Amino acid sequence: MYDVLISGAGPAGSKCAEVIANRGYKVGLIERNTAWRKPCGGAVSSRILKYYPQLRNLNLHPITGISMYSGDFDQLKYSWKDIREPSFTVDRLEFDTILRNIALDAGAELFDKNLSFDFLYKQNRKIGIKTKHHNETKEYQGRILIIADGMGSKLANKSNLREKWNIDGIGLAKCAIMEAENNIDKSSISLFFQKYKGYGWIFPLSENRFNIGCGTWLEANRVYNINQAYKDFQNHSYLNKFFPNRKFKEIWSGSYPLPALGINDKSLFKDNIMMIGDTVGFVSPISGEGIHASIVSGQVAGETAISALENDDISDQTLKKYKLHPNIKKIRRNFKMTASMVDFLYEDDGKNLSNMFLLAKSDEKAREIVINMFLFGQPPSKEFVLRLNSLRQKQ
Ligand SMILES: Cc1cc2nc3c(=O)[nH]c(=O)nc-3n(C[C@H](O)[C@H](O)[C@H](O)COP(=O)(O)OP(=O)(O)OC[C@H]3O[C@@H](n4cnc5c(N)ncnc54)[C@H](O)[C@@H]3O)c2cc1C
Repeated sequence: MYDVLISGAGPAGSKCAEVIANRGYKVGLIERNTAWRKPCGGAVSSRILKYYPQLRNLNLHPITGISMYSGDFDQLKYSWKDIREPSFTVDRLEFDTILRNIALDAGAELFDKNLSFDFLYKQNRKIGIKTKHHNETKEYQGRILIIADGMGSKLANKSNLREKWNIDGIGLAKCAIMEAENNIDKSSISLFFQKYKGYGWIFPLSENRFNIGCGTWLEANRVYNINQAYKDFQNHSYLNKFFPNRKFKEIWSGSYPLPALGINDKSLFKDNIMMIGDTVGFVSPISGEGIHASIVSGQVAGETAISALENDDISDQTLKKYKLHPNIKKIRRNFKMTASMVDFLYEDDGKNLSNMFLLAKSDEKAREIVINMFLFGQPPSKEFVLRLNSLRQKQ
């Protein structure tokens, strides 16, 4: 019997487990496979250092700039060297292990090779989680249950908290860790926006190693095949300038979906259950960045669980503190507004997106707005949108 059971030991689940275990509560962390590398670009915002200050000592690959390219390969560069702390890029297999070990050091108990597939019930109440472990069924009991097992969650579908994903509400992405001689700026990540909803990326990991990937978004999922989109991006002649001899050694590759419409407010909690991370949409609808927001959701859900256990009240009355926490409210609001920007920017083969790049190149204030939108999930001002609209009308 655990105070809290968490399904999924990714960034969201591991942070949540750490917070609760640190307060001395008994936490079970159920994970399908700790040897799995989550398909991900692995670009991590320095904002997570607030939650993991110890990462500063780990010599992670520092990132101090971004290049964003429009569908016509118009480049917008921005550097935050000497202005902000460096962000970093990671290999998710290593990164997730680091975060998970921090949770285990705090006292959480890991159940590896356990695939959560259903709840355990007593008189219609969910009192635990059932897993498959080497062809055996295992049952774990917990007072509070936290679903953190990402896009493929079986528990989320059975929780009655949300519907199954719809193809028009997600992103589909494919990426690889590669090695090649290259001319990539090693301190900068690059995003290549497409005329359809989606973008390609190149994120350096070390001198020769980098993560390259591509995603389609929302209705573009129906029109474009992600494997083809990835191939087209990787083979695009524009990339010759980064990879002159085009000899790639693939270290690993994978594909995975991600939420694309932001957080479903009604899905965050109910009875003795909370959902965190990707499972419930903590991914920026405009950039696909989800590691930071997932960690914030894990932290706040963890604090909420502690409050429920301390007051011996695990009713909705207490669990709603999760949804109403200022940090969660801020992410919900920002994601809602940036989600509405996606349709606008990609109208007419990305015309507004191209205009946005034009504006940002000539005007420092506009550049700040664009960077804040993509790097920090901050919605643009009304005035900025009006400027884009009037540019469109003049064309
Ligand atoms: C291709 C791609 C590229 C991305 N690039 C970036 C990026 O560069 N930067 C960024 O910030 N975000 C990126 N994201 C988003 C980011 O990966 C997620 O937002 C983040 O990983 C969410 O963390 P999480 O803990 O909620 O879920 P996950 O990281 O998905 O973790 C879920 C965990 O649950 C486990 N699990 C799954 N099913 C079960 C089960 N049934 N039982 C038990 N355990 C289970 C998994 O093994 C995993 O450990 C990307 C996403 C994709 C798909």
